Amino acid sequence: MNRHIAIYPGSFDPMTNGHMDIISRGLDIFDTVVVAVANNNEKSALFSVEERIDMINRLIASNPRILVETFSGLLVDYVVRKEARVILRGLRAVTDFEFEFQLAQMNRTVCPQVETLFMMTSPECAYLSSSIVKEVGRLKGDISKFVPTLVADKLMEKFGHR
Ligand code: ADP
Repeated sequence: MNRHIAIYPGSFDPMTNGHMDIISRGLDIFDTVVVAVANNNEKSALFSVEERIDMINRLIASNPRILVETFSGLLVDYVVRKEARVILRGLRAVTDFEFEFQLAQMNRTVCPQVETLFMMTSPECAYLSSSIVKEVGRLKGDISKFVPTLVADKLMEKFGHR
């Protein structure tokens, strides 16, 4: 088991400043953070898994301490395959808690050696979610404060705003 790796799973559809914040703070604690893009064939996703991975790779600019991968199937199975122990998750509001609590308990029951570690959002990211950014972007709102420039450009392109 590798104690120096954290697996940071999510949809990242697309990556927001909130995600970037968790990754950079994760790197203060772990040697390596693996950004694991869930491939759950969600029809409602705006970006394909390949597009999301490509964007994240460009954002992390070949930082050797960040890996970007995709996984399908059970998260804990993937974590075990990576020989990791820690799942890193972010918590925003109370509304995140119920779901995250359920997920963490389930993962713990299925795989007791894997621990879920929660990091509180930074206050400036507390109301930030990929869905709200997509909604604002779709309606031509200014999303430049919420996502990296590259993501804002890709969103505008996706919505045909340029
Ligand atoms: P999921 O579909 O698994 O919720 P997301 O891409 O929405 O995937 O989020 C991945 C992880 O990042 C989750 O743990 C989520 O709580 C966390 N996260 C998302 N946005 C923020 C934010 N603004 N601040 C802190 N954590 C966040």
